[in-house]
Amino acid sequence: MRRISVFGSTGSIGQNTIDLITRQGGAQTYDVVALTGASNIELLAQQARALRADVAVTADSARYADLKDALAGSDVEPAAGPEALVAAAERPTDWALSGIVGAAGLAPGLAAARHGGILALANKESLVCAGALLKATCTRHGTQLLPVDSEHSAIFQALRGEEPRAIERMLITASGGPFRTWSQARMADVTPEQAKAHPNWSMGVRISIDSATMFNKALELIEAKELFNMPPEQIEVVVHPQSIIHSMVGFTDGAIIAQLGPSDMRGAIGFALNYPDRQPLPVERLDFAALARLDFEPEDPERFPALRLSRQVMRMGGLAGAVFNAAKEAALDAFLADRIGFLDMARLVEAALDALGSDAAKVTQDITLDNVLVYDQASRQFARQWTATNA
Ligand code: NDP
Ligand code: MG
Repeated sequence: MRRISVFGSTGSIGQNTIDLITRQGGAQTYDVVALTGASNIELLAQQARALRADVAVTADSARYADLKDALAGSDVEPAAGPEALVAAAERPTDWALSGIVGAAGLAPGLAAARHGGILALANKESLVCAGALLKATCTRHGTQLLPVDSEHSAIFQALRGEEPRAIERMLITASGGPFRTWSQARMADVTPEQAKAHPNWSMGVRISIDSATMFNKALELIEAKELFNMPPEQIEVVVHPQSIIHSMVGFTDGAIIAQLGPSDMRGAIGFALNYPDRQPLPVERLDFAALARLDFEPEDPERFPALRLSRQVMRMGGLAGAVFNAAKEAALDAFLADRIGFLDMARLVEAALDALGSDAAKVTQDITLDNVLVYDQASRQFARQWTATNA
């Protein structure tokens, strides 16, 4: 039986993954090693019991007793805390999903990358803050990194059987988020509630707000550069409000291959779960007569500075991405806590890059988890000070 682990199983990506695993026979089909969550102990325990996981881990050390109680009478081993997460990721598997949100997913992702098999990556933040490190770890241990992000899954699918030298450009589609047509002046007063409402996709709170600022697309540009070793100048953003085309690849002969599908993450997750096969998936089938049309617009880096900052980070290289990602996470926390406004998020990230980016960019050799975390922490510290002075 294929051994699998799901990191972040209680989240939006995680629950969709568990849904597919369950539909494919659950514990009858898979040997489930580790499932992990943080705050949602009830759901974690329920998933672990149903799939007969070896271990269930909450990232929150303070919730150990709750998890132990919730698992009482089952064979599932409870564990808690960041070290326990990494220890769970060190347990050998054939397939692991990196579905924790934020830089917190980096250490478990690196541990899971050390035992071969497939690492299905939803946690784009780990490629943004430590792309070179994660890729080198996969290469050293013969682990295949498969994208779960819908855009990157689309590109991966469009590239199957193609020669790398025939690739001319990658076109990453963006819905544009809930404020696609808004002026900057109007965006100034956006509340967290408004920013959480994504027009097409149902996702976790953080990525939904990142879609509203277009920081999600900013992370995805870097993710594409890292995953496909693509020069940044050859990666474009195309605003496509319907989110039907998940992304495209343009080739040297002018041909473009696009991957289309409904806005249901089970498409991309299922592709990674069943890879290299395709298996039937419980997603809606597209009806082109009902769709009638697909629209496209250019990106607007003036109203959405996140895209401009992302390109700056790619030019800088080194560990500039660690500064960028951490500042973005801290800015989002401050926005959710009503301490800064919607537009301040990009201002904070730009200020962090100005203050720390060129120093971080010099770190291009011997990148380790520790030196990534040095810049991650420095950036969060900068964000706290910035928030205190600008709030
Ligand atoms: P959610 O917020 O829905 O889920 C996050 C998961 O991580 C939950 O299991 C949560 O546990 C756990 N978690 C939260 N904080 C920590 C922590 N400090 N340490 C360890 N685990 C933690 O996020 P999503 O599922 O939306 O996103 C997960 C990842 O996938 C992100 O990197 C996102 O960018 C990416 N992604 C998501 C897409 C989507 O459609 N949602 C699409 C493409 C990419 P709990 O809930 O129990 O607190
Ligand atoms: Mg995406």
